[in-house]
Amino acid sequence: MHLPHQREHEEFHPLGMAQRQLRESVERLGLPDEIHAKLAHFKRIVVVAVPARMDNGCLEVFTGYRVQHSMERGPCKGGMRYHPAVDLDEVCALAMLRTWKAAVVNIPYGGAKGGVDCDPQQLSRGELERITRRFTSELVEVIGPEKDIPAPDVGTDAEVMAWMMDTYSMNRGFVVPGVVTGKPLAIGGSAGRSDATGRGCVCILEQALAAMERLRPGLKVVIQGFGKVGRATARLAAQAGFRVVAVSDVCGATQNPHGLDIAKLEAYAEEHGTVAGFPEGEDLERDQVLLLPCDVLIPAALEGALTGDNAEQVQAKLILEAANGPTTGEAEAIFAERCIPVVPDILANAGGVTISYFEWVQDLQAYFWSEEEIHQKLYQVMTQAFGDVYCISEEKKLTLRQAALDLAIGRVAEAQALRGIYP
Ligand code: NAD
Repeated sequence: MHLPHQREHEEFHPLGMAQRQLRESVERLGLPDEIHAKLAHFKRIVVVAVPARMDNGCLEVFTGYRVQHSMERGPCKGGMRYHPAVDLDEVCALAMLRTWKAAVVNIPYGGAKGGVDCDPQQLSRGELERITRRFTSELVEVIGPEKDIPAPDVGTDAEVMAWMMDTYSMNRGFVVPGVVTGKPLAIGGSAGRSDATGRGCVCILEQALAAMERLRPGLKVVIQGFGKVGRATARLAAQAGFRVVAVSDVCGATQNPHGLDIAKLEAYAEEHGTVAGFPEGEDLERDQVLLLPCDVLIPAALEGALTGDNAEQVQAKLILEAANGPTTGEAEAIFAERCIPVVPDILANAGGVTISYFEWVQDLQAYFWSEEEIHQKLYQVMTQAFGDVYCISEEKKLTLRQAALDLAIGRVAEAQALRGIYP
């Protein structure tokens, strides 16, 4: 199915960018047109009305989406985003990326993404729960542990996953922990899930710097976004010996050239709802963080942070995409010209889907592993994936993104060719 909604400029048209990346990879790999045609389409697109009673007694109707891109290698898997800018174009692009991401780390999943066009910052927990329960009820027939397994993303958290799991279970008539991942531990969550994406980012960062012979203690790191991914990345990067010199969130930014104390910054952000005003840092304009001199820039907020407008002024020596789709095609071309490597999202932030996979496996077998075991397994998967991608990029003289896409798309295409077309 092609999409009803097209954004005009590819810079702000995530699906156009995802389709272009697919086309280019198909050409490099020499795949047949019919494989490309199937990969370029979406298995299922579901758009639902989500009516919910607000605390003031009024009814509001939101729009909910779930897009399943591919089930060639296993059930679909992907996050649920609650954000006012959620639309079909964005959800489709992220669903396609999700297919490639699972394939890069060689996990037996296809890709999906979903969300609701609401602003969680303006909603009470009660309103959020009612929206989540109605949205999940609308999706009962299309999600499930063997079909499609949601997870947290921007604007959703472990509690939202608990409501989804409960709503699905009530509809089925029995407990189904494996319907979502990123749940609280007490109801079938996995040890290590809350900081999984950040842990994977730091693991890939160390591997990338080591492979490029640039790994040294005290390298300066700047992070855009201080949510689930940004916080964990900042904390674990600091623990690994990096100096996190600036951090931003949607409301502002703070910097300290000697390195921010991340534990104190987390406590401050928890209390004040933002990193701005942190007493041990100096405030700066939010988007200025992207342009600070540093060794590593880690965008960990939303898509389209690095564009043709700001890429020339970026002073980082390496970019690691903790967020999904933070670099537009124009920005990527500028970074390539300036010899600034970009470690792509589908590799850098794949720690989340990897530990989600571990959570699902544990739920299905009702047998849980220790945190140490999880960290060790995560390290193995991420190291293998980085090695695979880096080898392809060196051998074929490709960027890390091209190499990661070729690895992933080659794997999905192989599965598709082996399965053939039903009936
Ligand atoms: P979140 O909602 O927990 O945090 C988002 C953060 O970005 C917040 O701190 C917010 O204030 C900040 N932000 C928003 N707009 C900003 C702007 N213009 N400038 C600076 N900061 C801004 O979301 P999250 O789960 O941390 O996800 C962040 C990114 O990582 C998204 O792209 C998401 O798709 C991706 N991701 C998340 C996971 C996961 O496990 N949660 C896994 C893989 C990828």
